[in-house]
Amino acid sequence: MGYLGLLIIFFLAFKPAKVVIDPKLQKYVTSFEKYAKKYGKETKIDYSVTFKDLLGVRAGVCYYSTIYGGQEVFVDFGTFILVPEHLRISLIFHELAHCSFGREHNIRTYRGKPLNWMYPQLFFYDIKLIEDYIEALITDKDENLIKKLERK
Ligand SMILES: [Zn+2]
Repeated sequence: MGYLGLLIIFFLAFKPAKVVIDPKLQKYVTSFEKYAKKYGKETKIDYSVTFKDLLGVRAGVCYYSTIYGGQEVFVDFGTFILVPEHLRISLIFHELAHCSFGREHNIRTYRGKPLNWMYPQLFFYDIKLIEDYIEALITDKDENLIKKLERK
């Protein structure tokens, strides 16, 4: 009986809540799905994407439950309101790429600057090349992006 009680509490405590996408984050989720399709990695975000106070330690996190196999993305609200729109996009796309594609961090740099949005920290990038950054993120290939950067 003692064990059963513990198991039930454990189950209730760790069962993922129903899928919730914060209305402020919906447009980024929709955009990510659109780009994933465009670059041949069609996916549906069927997990929660919401805000959470990550105490400024992290800008976002992809939480993966090994028990239930469910994913969940949390975006730090303090970071979200502080950064410009193009960094919001790279932050949220970074976390969605972790959760949807199992993408890991990429620490490659180009001319001393982080290259891929899977870099473990937010970085400023040339907004004119945003489509190329998105392509590199979704396809996990940097070649086209590097060609564009070389012309700069
Ligand atoms: Zn990350």
